[in-house]
Amino acid sequence: MEKDCIFCKIVNGEIPTTFLYKNDDLVIFRDINPHAPVHILIVPTRHIRSVNDLTGEDAKIVSDMIMAGKMMAEKEGISKSGYKLLYNVEKGGGQVIFHLHMHLIGGWKK
Ligand code: AMP
Ligand code: ZN
Repeated sequence: MEKDCIFCKIVNGEIPTTFLYKNDDLVIFRDINPHAPVHILIVPTRHIRSVNDLTGEDAKIVSDMIMAGKMMAEKEGISKSGYKLLYNVEKGGGQVIFHLHMHLIGGWKK
């Protein structure tokens, strides 16, 4: 838990959020400012600043995040049409919230 981190507050319930999925290691919820018809965030419960801070010990959470993205794409019915799994890394990469997260984006009209 990092003080003043929005996603830590979402994880611990300080900011009420509807979770699409939740387990001990990650939570999943819709982006508040969607950039596509489907825009979902996959967020580890443990505070990690960005991809730059990942170590070999984090291999499981990273693979869990990708598998969760695949699972949510199936649930949202966008597997066949296609989607993006995206990590913004640090300010120059467009990261605004410095708690690791992966975007699942898709559902555009053909
Ligand atoms: P990034 O630019 O990769 O750091 O993305 C952060 C994302 O978090 C943005 O797309 C925001 O719209 C989203 N976001 C910020 N606050 C909330 C919130 N309270 N609930 C859901 N999504 C949020
Ligand atoms: Zn955090």
